[in-house]
Amino acid sequence: MMRSHRAGDLRAGDVGESVVLCGWVAHRRDHGGKVFLDVRDVAGLVQVVVDPAAAGLEAAHRLRGEWVVRVIGDVQARPDGTVNDDLPTGAIEVVARELEVLSEAEPPPFPLDERTDVDEVLRLRHRYLDLRRVPMQRNLRLRAAVNRAMRDAMTEQGFVEVETPMLIASTPEGARDFVVPSRLHPGEFYALPQSPQLFKQLLMVGGTDRYFQIARCLRDEDLRADRQFEFMQLDIEMTFADQEDVLDAVSTAVLAAAAAAGRDTEAPASIPRMTWHDAMERFGSDKPDVRFGMELVELTDLFGDTEFRAFAGADAIKGICVRDAGDLARSRLDALTDRAKSLGAAGLVWMRVLDGGALDSPVVKFLSESEQLGLCDALGAAAGDLVLLVAGERAMTRSVLGTLRLDLGRPPVSEGGLRFLWVVDFPLFEGLDAEADPPRPIPAHHPFTMPHADDLGRLESDPLSVRSQAYDLVLNGWELGSGSVRIHRSDVQQRIFTMLGIGPDDAQRRFGFLLDAFRFGAPPHAGFAVGIDRLVALLAGEENIREVIAFPKTQSGSDPLTDAPTSIDARQLRELGLRLLDPT
Ligand code: ASP
Repeated sequence: MMRSHRAGDLRAGDVGESVVLCGWVAHRRDHGGKVFLDVRDVAGLVQVVVDPAAAGLEAAHRLRGEWVVRVIGDVQARPDGTVNDDLPTGAIEVVARELEVLSEAEPPPFPLDERTDVDEVLRLRHRYLDLRRVPMQRNLRLRAAVNRAMRDAMTEQGFVEVETPMLIASTPEGARDFVVPSRLHPGEFYALPQSPQLFKQLLMVGGTDRYFQIARCLRDEDLRADRQFEFMQLDIEMTFADQEDVLDAVSTAVLAAAAAAGRDTEAPASIPRMTWHDAMERFGSDKPDVRFGMELVELTDLFGDTEFRAFAGADAIKGICVRDAGDLARSRLDALTDRAKSLGAAGLVWMRVLDGGALDSPVVKFLSESEQLGLCDALGAAAGDLVLLVAGERAMTRSVLGTLRLDLGRPPVSEGGLRFLWVVDFPLFEGLDAEADPPRPIPAHHPFTMPHADDLGRLESDPLSVRSQAYDLVLNGWELGSGSVRIHRSDVQQRIFTMLGIGPDDAQRRFGFLLDAFRFGAPPHAGFAVGIDRLVALLAGEENIREVIAFPKTQSGSDPLTDAPTSIDARQLRELGLRLLDPT
């Protein structure tokens, strides 16, 4: 028997037991006649007392941090006055009878306790050491629990897990593909999947009814705190289902994940909804962080007849009220103004609400009394508050104030509970590509997204007003995932392709297999994908998804552990039929 117990599991109830433990030496204290070891394994730490003078225990003198040992000994209560209430095993210690060194260790390049902040590149270069730290093991386990909960939830709802290929033709998620050269077809390339999108739709045509997969997706995009090249999705597709069915199935899975993470008391039984339009108007974002208020307030009508030149005739005027921020220094207000301008605003109007309700602002003299009163009333502003207003083109006012709202009010990831939100009724197109001739609508989701049935008639005449049957799941201001009802009618698909400038030949070349499949009896279907890295990070209270990924890439897309990406040798290049250009 290699071991009988896990070190960190021992408790007062084990006193008198003979145990065999294996683990790493976390600390070693030499107290004259006795050596105290903290032996660490996955369950935690336990104190081991060794008498190095005793036969078979001499090795205690040589031990160093991170050596791997096996200890046979007896659990005893710690002597009075030495009990450590901060340690789960702090009531007991193990008196060693035998000590075996299983593996020696060089001194680690950084301390492995959980409190020390270590340079991230160093952590990633020695990820195997970093993973020994308690928060990392906790995050890996949390991730496994989330995966399992979601897998169970999907299975219980009648979904079947199907694996889709990694070496495929390009998928239309709109990001840059990672490509893989083909040896057997020189000059040709596979794409790595940006998502299993087309395969899951083919599975629906194939009668699979309800599919899910914990799928690896790859997109060659700039990395950020919430984005890696490779990421995992809980990918879902269902036949004979509408938006309600999808929202229901996904809600069940993510709430099960929250419960598995021990966060069930904070998650509501059902996830609230907001239309995209309301999200943009009230929060200036399609992924509103509803953990805090500071909502954007519509003030355009209030200033309908204003004499204030900066507001007169503006497409939109919106404002936010920052509670108790009336004492912000002038330099901070100037910095906020600069920030607003860098985000596209012509300026930022700020006003402090003074005791008695009067406003203090360089522009207050331009506002009528009723405008001043109406403003405070609409914003619910009271003495001590700061009011910020932006006027101009509506979309700009929303995005500028939405960003300032986050800058000024957003709680840290680990605070404020879990606020899931469905954002529904996204527009089908997010704008016009003016560079195309004629200007062309830019799809907000992939091109297989079904327009809202009520808006189909306006598809060509007023495309930007057309809603889609697409929906996002948001958690604490992070976009957790997207999905949509798909187009299964070839006439509608054809109209969308035409609008996007994808001609019949192009469509056939890029998605021909899907269009072909749809000619053989395509059932209505709809689906979704939940970003697992983001979900786990939020459940773990981590600001960066790298903390919940065992082997992530750095911000620059490299892996300090394996050194990837690396060059390949001339023979491999030849085999693949490739020649490298001089990097310029
Ligand atoms: N494939 C989509 C994505 O990765 C999700 C979906 O529409 O199901 O965003």
